[in-house]
Amino acid sequence: MASKQVVLITGSSTGFGRLIAESLARHGHTVFATMRDPGGRNASNAAEIRALAERESLPLNILEMDVTTDASVERAVNICVQQAGRIDVAINNAGYALIGLEEAVTTEQAQQIMDTNFFGSVRINRAVLPHMRRQCSGLLLHVSSGAGRVVFPAFGFYCATKFALEALAEAYHYELAPQGIESSIIEPGAYQTPVFGNMLKAADEARTATYGVASQIPAKIDKILNTTAGNPQEIADAVLAIVETPAGQRKLRYRVSPSDIGVDQINTLCAQIQQRLFEASGIAADTAFVQRSAASSKG
Ligand code: NAD
Repeated sequence: MASKQVVLITGSSTGFGRLIAESLARHGHTVFATMRDPGGRNASNAAEIRALAERESLPLNILEMDVTTDASVERAVNICVQQAGRIDVAINNAGYALIGLEEAVTTEQAQQIMDTNFFGSVRINRAVLPHMRRQCSGLLLHVSSGAGRVVFPAFGFYCATKFALEALAEAYHYELAPQGIESSIIEPGAYQTPVFGNMLKAADEARTATYGVASQIPAKIDKILNTTAGNPQEIADAVLAIVETPAGQRKLRYRVSPSDIGVDQINTLCAQIQQRLFEASGIAADTAFVQRSAASSKG
């Protein structure tokens, strides 16, 4: 059994974040389940989690955190480190989806989804890394999506946030490995969580008047997403396995999905091309981590 970790999770009030928090705590890891407004809009979710922690004597704590605010992120990370003395794993999970033809997405909507789904992770990683560097260990785990590797029309801005997250997480993977810190990505397929019910719609509908047959795509995508979803506990179980994988042996990418649309093939090909890029650029020999990254693509 791997040693017990101190884990901070974003967006833990519902869905994957909540299941991950509960699963990790049940396996003895000290969990800081963060969420927006645990005294207000998430009061009932927070009360249920607290009740579970008390009933089962779990090391499961709730902290307020909005990933779109630097001060909120820094405050929660500081409390976590003060209370637990360290931070071993940061799980970048908070996010939401936005559906609609891309031209109908306003600039403000585009900025807001980037602020949560991408810059939220930027804030978390910047807040936790000084602690992880001091410890010479840690794991940044990013909840991306199959939509971080393939593109659905009418889902372009959501995909853009996850593509951006993939790039950031992969760059961190190469840069941080020599300091004993890992950066990994989990790419869920479609799972039944509140994410689809909470999905925002592109606000500038008037822009879609001339799109003809393409204007039917958002409704079709919406239907596909709502009818192909699997059991989200699979993601919590996969995250538990990643957290309990010994340090230094974690893969860059984990694809976990009820359906196979070829994302593993993309990941394998990309790992080979990255390796070629490093060799051609003369940086492969300096970096033991590249070998591990290439090996992970075969897993
Ligand atoms: P969910 O809606 O239950 O969870 C998302 C959580 O993020 C919610 O609790 C929400 O309150 C929180 N959140 C949103 N904005 C926030 C902010 N500014 N600060 C803090 N928290 C915020 O849905 P989920 O499916 O569990 O989503 C979790 C992650 O999984 C998301 O990043 C989502 O994009 C990703 N994902 C989900 C699926 C799926 O099929 N469910 C598939 C691939 C990826």
